[in-house]
Amino acid sequence: MPETKRSSLEYFRLKRLVQELESKEGRATELVSLYVPPGRQISDAATNLREEYGTAANIKSKSTRKNVQDAIESILQKLKLFRMPPENGLIIFAGAIPRGGPGSEKMETYVIEPPEPINIYYYRCDARFFLNPLKDMLTEKDIYGMIVMDRSDATFALLRGRRLDIVETITSGVPGKHDAGGQSARRFQRLIEIMAHDFDKRVAEHAEKIFLPIENLKGIIIGGPGPTKDDFADGNYLHYQLQKKVLAVEDLGYTEEPGVYELVERSQEALKTVDYVKEKKQVQNFLLLLAKSPNQVTYGEKEVREKLTKGLVKSLLLSSGLENYRVKYKCQTCGSEKELTLSKEAILSKGGRDTCEKCGGLMEELEAKSVIDELAELAEKANAKIEVISTETDEGKMLQGSFSGIVAILRYATSET
Ligand SMILES: [Zn+2]
Repeated sequence: MPETKRSSLEYFRLKRLVQELESKEGRATELVSLYVPPGRQISDAATNLREEYGTAANIKSKSTRKNVQDAIESILQKLKLFRMPPENGLIIFAGAIPRGGPGSEKMETYVIEPPEPINIYYYRCDARFFLNPLKDMLTEKDIYGMIVMDRSDATFALLRGRRLDIVETITSGVPGKHDAGGQSARRFQRLIEIMAHDFDKRVAEHAEKIFLPIENLKGIIIGGPGPTKDDFADGNYLHYQLQKKVLAVEDLGYTEEPGVYELVERSQEALKTVDYVKEKKQVQNFLLLLAKSPNQVTYGEKEVREKLTKGLVKSLLLSSGLENYRVKYKCQTCGSEKELTLSKEAILSKGGRDTCEKCGGLMEELEAKSVIDELAELAEKANAKIEVISTETDEGKMLQGSFSGIVAILRYATSET
């Protein structure tokens, strides 16, 4: 399969869109979803929609009938913009979404060029939009299994794209070293060996239960302090399909959950394409530069925006946890404009208005866009790289918490402060 990795910004935007669409619900079975695969003629889809339009004439409820036909009409209008489906096909959602009580519905239409190809032609009219194929595109395909073990316990974890989940820890029951000498020590030693062997078998059984059902498991990484993990990795305990997926065996200082985090750190080379590891690295690079060459980095919304507009930013890291909006207001009296960063609640409570500081006149809201989109657009204009970093890793949490979710690496060290 070709590596069709999309950018973290595309991923973030698709995820946000799916969340938004998920929240939409029609008053009745009246939201229309259309999936057109790349091989299909647009004219075929239009013909099919006109048939559906005709069928909808039989709907008893007058308002449902009108809303379904309006939605189909809206999709037909959008289809006219395409001579053929885009590379990966075309998805259109349309429907009357209620804003309040009955009669408050507004027609909303979404045209999506998906990041991965659609395989099926699909038409559906339902109370919600049909999102499963889009959601499948968001499921992480980079999946790795991790086993951290020593003689007393074993911890299993799954690394899926941006997420690291500890699945379970099992204990061996193997007693600690014995200091008695002679005959009894040899017998005790023999007992320990048997127990250790049984533990290795149990670890393999748990690994099989957890990892074998995972389609597309890309690899398994084993680690731990001491020789137990090596005996396990070399001893062919694992199911043969899992055994051949073992990518690395690492020596660790820790076990259990801390051992898993250590194993991820140690396996950066084997895991370099996994988003979880990439995100950690990107923030670590920034922190390294911050310590070594503080004039080559900047952070905070105001500072980063200023450097972006001056074209000084080489790469921009944004936290996916950023929730504020950049809102533009224009004075109705003197025409001056201003921009503010506000939370959704603050925008709503202002009701689209503000007071002009220059003339005291009334300002009206021109537009509101998420801070992520606004900064990403500035970065695109300035030819800067953009990464949207999740809050799954400690580094991602630090980006959001200690650096207000916005940091930049500059093209060169500046003397400005
Ligand atoms: Zn004014």
